[in-house]
Amino acid sequence: MANSKYEYVKSFEVQDEIMLPNLIVVRVDGRDFNRFSEVHEFEKPNDERALNLMNACAFAVLEEFPDIVFAYGFSDEYSFIFKKDTKFYQRRASKINSLVVSFFTSVYITKWKEFFLQKDLMFHPSFKSRVICCATMEVLQTYILWRQRACHLENLFNTCFWKLIGCGKSQKEAKEMLEGTQKQEKNEILFQQFGVNYKDLPSIFRQGSCAFKTEVEDIVKYKENGAPVKRLRKKIALTHSENVAGRSFWNVHPCLCK
Ligand code: ATP
Ligand code: ATP
Ligand code: MG
Ligand code: MG
Ligand code: MG
Repeated sequence: MANSKYEYVKSFEVQDEIMLPNLIVVRVDGRDFNRFSEVHEFEKPNDERALNLMNACAFAVLEEFPDIVFAYGFSDEYSFIFKKDTKFYQRRASKINSLVVSFFTSVYITKWKEFFLQKDLMFHPSFKSRVICCATMEVLQTYILWRQRACHLENLFNTCFWKLIGCGKSQKEAKEMLEGTQKQEKNEILFQQFGVNYKDLPSIFRQGSCAFKTEVEDIVKYKENGAPVKRLRKKIALTHSENVAGRSFWNVHPCLCK
């Protein structure tokens, strides 16, 4: 309906271009996953199948959208970070936001069976998402640091909580026991009552997961003189490192700074 008398309504669309040099982040988060995880009998506090499924969805997003270079996630959430100077969909927040979350959700449903072999989906999971606009690299690092802190605090709480449930406490009692406790106290409960050293838990639980684009050198063949012929290949890597927002991590993985 180009140039019709109706077209003026197009100008009523919300203008939402994210201006350069802001960095664009999209965070998706499962809607009501407390219930979703109960209905689908996730192991508590950490169901590895569910985490692996989330990571597989994040990989699919990185493969699908060339301008997304880095992702960090834990529990039912994932943050996706676009390269600095992306022109993707004219940097329009609503388009980018809706594309990432709808693609993520459809992959989650399609891949469900790969990770939950014996379990059918009882209802349709949905994810919500938002755009975070980071004015500088420092703000972006603070954002990631904030999400990784949330991962750590939630995991420490949940680990204590489910240990208390496991030894006969009701959910209400466990919640009350943990209310107002500091990190140190939770570490001590775990160690003294349950013999668990928090630091020994798998790093995927404590640190969350980080998926990012990188390049690896492949040897494609050998010359007659035996010298290898190498080629750079793009690859998506997954790590569960401490401090994904720190200088030491970013210096080694420069995909974000390009
Ligand atoms: P909202 O709709 O506001 O996001 P929510 O119920 O999804 O509500 P969140 O704060 O997002 O609440 O927390 C997600 C919840 O999903 C966790 O508290 C946990 O109970 C559950 N969950 C997510 N991933 C896992 C997992 N891998 N293993 C066990 N439980 C999980
Ligand atoms: P964009 O990503 O910009 O939306 P697009 O390829 O989705 O690009 P649209 O203008 O949204 O383009 O048009 C959707 C196209 O999808 C149609 O032109 C048509 O080719 C195809 N399509 C959608 N629904 C049907 C249908 N029911 N039967 C046949 N073709 C369809
Ligand atoms: Mg949620
Ligand atoms: Mg969440
Ligand atoms: Mg279309």
